[in-house]
Order: sequence, then C-alpha cells, then structure tokens
Amino acid sequence: MAKQQWRTDPREALKAGPDFDLAAFDRNGQPGWEGDRDGGEEYMARRGEEMSELQERLFAEGRSGGNRSVLLVLQGLDTAGKGGIVRHVMGMVDPQGVKLASFGVPTPEEREHHYLWRIEKQLPPPGRIGVFDRSHYEDVLVVRVDELVPREVWSGRYDEINAWEQKVIESGTTLVKVALMVSYDEQGARLMERLERPDKYWKFSPGDIDTRSKWPAFQEAYADVFARTSTEQAPWYVVPADKKWYARLAVTEILTRTLEDLDPTWPPATFDVAEMRAALQETIDHPA
Ligand code: AMP
Ligand code: MG
Repeated sequence: MAKQQWRTDPREALKAGPDFDLAAFDRNGQPGWEGDRDGGEEYMARRGEEMSELQERLFAEGRSGGNRSVLLVLQGLDTAGKGGIVRHVMGMVDPQGVKLASFGVPTPEEREHHYLWRIEKQLPPPGRIGVFDRSHYEDVLVVRVDELVPREVWSGRYDEINAWEQKVIESGTTLVKVALMVSYDEQGARLMERLERPDKYWKFSPGDIDTRSKWPAFQEAYADVFARTSTEQAPWYVVPADKKWYARLAVTEILTRTLEDLDPTWPPATFDVAEMRAALQETIDHPA
C-alpha cells in the first residue's frame, strides 16, 4: 500500500481564503490527504490517541490556573455529518474534557435576548474543548434565508460576529471553525436513508425537505459567511463532507495540530513531592 499521509496541512488545504469559491468546491474531494479510506481510518485512530493526551494536558493546565481552551464550531446543512464528528472525533477524548452545546430553534426566553446571549453562555471553561453543533452562524444562515429578521439586521451581524470572536480569542479560546459541505445529491441520499430505516427516523424532520428546497439560498448564505467571517485569527475550514471518513479524518487532524501548537504542559506539583512520598511510605509501613 502507498504511504498514507497528509501531503498538505489540512489547515492550509481547507482554509477559506479571499479567493474561495464555494460553487466550484468539490464536496467529494479529499484535499491534502494522500491515501485511501482504510489508511485514513487507521491514521485517524492513531492521531486520536495523541489528541486525547494533548486534551488531558490542556485539562490539567486549566485545573492549575491556565485560561486556555479550544472551541470547535461545527456548521453544515442537515445530514452534513455534524453529529458524526461529535460521536467519532470527540468520542476519542475523555468526555469530562469536552463541553458540547447544540443550538436549535431559539426558545422563547432566548428570543428575548441578543442572539449571542445563548452562545456566550456555552463558551468552554479553561482547559476544555467546547463543541458547538450549529452556532451563532445560524443567525446569518437560516435566519437570513427564512427572512426571520430584515436584511438591515442580519447584514450587520458579520462584523459583529468578527468583533465578538476576537474578544473570545483574547480571553484565551482558540477558535476552530469547521463547515461540513455535503453535495445536493448526497444530501438527498442521506435524507432518503433516514426515511427508509426505522433506526434513522428520529434524525428526520419534515422541515428538512423545506430547507433542502432552499438549497441555492443556503449556498449563497454560506458563501457570504466564508467571504465575510474567515479571518486571519479565526479562519473557516471548509471540509468536503460526501466522504464521511475524510471529514472525520480532517477534523481530527485540524484539532490535533491545533492542540500541538498550544503545546499544553503537565503542571508542576504544588507540593513537596519527596516529602509527600515519605509521608505516604510511613502509612504503608505502619498501617493505622
Ligand atoms: P438539528 O441541528 O437538526 O437538531 O436542527 C436544529 C434546527 O434549528 C435547524 O433547523 C436550524 O436551522 C434551527 N436553528 C438553529 N439556530 C437557529 C436560529 N438562531 N434561528 C432559527 N432557527 C435556528
Ligand atoms: Mg436536523
């Protein structure tokens, strides 16, 4: 078998720069990955173990006064695979180090507040990896497409989101924004599967067909999100999602490399280790 490796850092291969063209984006591609599915799954499992150790180090750092955290923002239309990332990628790390939040239709209470109110409450505490299954970006996606607020309102939100994210970054949180982009055909097949398998009915909402019928408007809204909110400090990684194995492999690699760059270190002991060892030995030698 040929070598299975990342030819290009996925953070480079998938970053939405100023010239990013969503209409031309191959949703069945595997940018940066030189290898096949089997090789990818094996690689992902190995990187998952490394990610897990790094996450534990970040958690330990957070317990010892550090203020750093990571926030994975997951966006994508129905069936894009957001749930699969949570289960298969985040499932590789200790759940106590993960803070997951899913954002659906706002509750009446949430609607009374600014749209960032419910988001801010779910930011990860120090040491944690936060995961947003949908996010504040719904307020310039579904809200825009369904005209839930007028254009004057949603059009001001891109700059507002950039400024808010900047504050979040300054408070110690590294943002990792991932958009899973599935093709129209693949979404159709995945929705059909949800209607053909009793173990998948629960994932289907009648509204999914209505959302799908607005495909061009959602693509336009996503294109504007990438054009206006993919910043130097908080870029968007646009991930082809027709190959689930690739999307999971890519997100694992992006998170692992992000944690490697943070390089959290094991906190030093806050007590005299030799003294404590001697005290413990005493209790072993002379039981109470
Ligand atoms: P799901 O992720 O499949 O559980 O669906 C959640 C639903 O909530 C999706 O249809 C989203 O479009 C919708 N949603 C999320 N955020 C908002 C928002 N701010 N305003 C309106 N609908 C939203
Ligand atoms: Mg859904």
